[in-house]
Amino acid sequence: MSDVDLIIRGQTVVSADAIGPASIHVCGEKIVAVRPFEDVLENCEIVEAASDAIVMPGLVDTHVHINSPGRTEWEGFQTATRAAAAGGVTTLIDMPLNSIPPTTTLAGFKTKLDTAKDDCFVDVGFWGGVVPGNTSELARMFAAGVVGFKCFLVPSGVDEFPHVTEDDLRIAMPELSRIDAMLIVHAELPGPMKAADNTDYEAFLRSRPRAAEDEAIELMIRLSREFGTRVHIVHLSSSDALPMLREAQAAGVKITAETCPHYLHFASETIPEGATEFKCCPPIRESENREKLWQGLADGTIDMVVSDHSPCPADMKLRETGDFMAAWGGIASLQLRLPVTWTEARRRGFSLRELTNWLCTNPARQVSLETRKGTIAAGCDADIIIWDATRSFSVEADRLYHRHKLTPYQGEILNGVVEKTFLRGKKIYDESHKEAQEAQKAQEQLGKGEFIYGGGSSQP
Ligand SMILES: [Zn+2]
Repeated sequence: MSDVDLIIRGQTVVSADAIGPASIHVCGEKIVAVRPFEDVLENCEIVEAASDAIVMPGLVDTHVHINSPGRTEWEGFQTATRAAAAGGVTTLIDMPLNSIPPTTTLAGFKTKLDTAKDDCFVDVGFWGGVVPGNTSELARMFAAGVVGFKCFLVPSGVDEFPHVTEDDLRIAMPELSRIDAMLIVHAELPGPMKAADNTDYEAFLRSRPRAAEDEAIELMIRLSREFGTRVHIVHLSSSDALPMLREAQAAGVKITAETCPHYLHFASETIPEGATEFKCCPPIRESENREKLWQGLADGTIDMVVSDHSPCPADMKLRETGDFMAAWGGIASLQLRLPVTWTEARRRGFSLRELTNWLCTNPARQVSLETRKGTIAAGCDADIIIWDATRSFSVEADRLYHRHKLTPYQGEILNGVVEKTFLRGKKIYDESHKEAQEAQKAQEQLGKGEFIYGGGSSQP
């Protein structure tokens, strides 16, 4: 057996098959054993979590917009992955749009890899995109390592990533089935959408009604059934779609769904006039809708909570005019996903096991990383976080590491503070470090993040 060089232990370790006292034995980048708490070795570094701290797998976030190259001023790999490390996220998957070029061709994917190279604090994988006319690129991108493909059914917000119609999908989906790649879908259809032009959140909400999502999801269930393609609905907001998703899943249709922290935390009734920092698409809906999303998580219809971290420069949020229709839609919460989800989950009586499934294990499985990521078990990467589930804090923009700090979470009181983050056995974040010291440490870790290649690739 290999030599153990690091042991991380605590009273509440969320491992693959138990929650309780344990010591995690690490050799190099891998967990080699999960042993009883007392079981420690000499001549080996021991990291001892405080008695009331939680030891959990590093988070996996499969929905992150880094916008680089081309719109690096919106975010970029350094700032995003730094925020990830501080939020306990050790693996993230970058979205194929808002960068220029978008990841819709093999050449675009290679440009993206060149851009991200040596610029990541955590492990990073990539989604490709399905746009009209790029079917011949899909197998090549999948072989080169994208983890799957995203499409939009409504305009995406950027011209270089056009949305697809049912006719386009009838060409792309047989190819995705052939290569066994997952299609992830921004599920809103243009039909039920209405124009609105003022600063009233209710008017914006009515402009993107639940029906736009429901009709899109109905379409995707039908197409998934017809072509056998694995389909995943991103950022589900409309709870009205839950019954048909539930029914389709029970009938064996290969369709899954995620939701995001903002849909589980905020409610439309309390969004102030002109507060465009709350704008995202699909929109945050009523508190009644929010509670049904929680039920969808409880019964497994929705099986993960991912950030949809989608930043932009503050001026694009048009806070001065408060124009919801013209403002960029997107909420940046990569660093806050754990405390937001935990604060709300705890209030509703959910367990650490459910939290771990939603934030770590199920997102890892979505991108076929379940044997490496999102689980504390022998053989997995030593991606581990230590966090305090009871400590509360007020969100202050200047403690967020992503590039642009305008956030609807400003001043929110949340539970759950990430204290230490380990990526493949190396500490990449420590809350207790003084700022200068930490900046120094951080710089040393830059470039330690590795690329994640999808299951269809021949890459390592
Ligand atoms: Zn997104």
